[in-house]
Amino acid sequence: MRVSVDRSRCLGSGNCLTWASDVFDQSDDDFLVVVLDETPPAERREAVEQAARFCPGQAIRVDHDG
Ligand code: SF4
Repeated sequence: MRVSVDRSRCLGSGNCLTWASDVFDQSDDDFLVVVLDETPPAERREAVEQAARFCPGQAIRVDHDG
């Protein structure tokens, strides 16, 4: 699983942190999303997918290899 974000779409809502604070953080400077872990372990898949699903800016992309 690979996680990437389009910061230009991020609204700084912080929703993604509530789903997966081990994967996402917010910058102290601009309050936009920062990816802490671009390749989270498989057991975090559901949380990361929920974060992407409920991102109001549709800024989170999750790719699954294979
Ligand atoms: S949920 Fe989406 S809009 Fe909100 S901080 Fe995370 S990436 Fe940005």
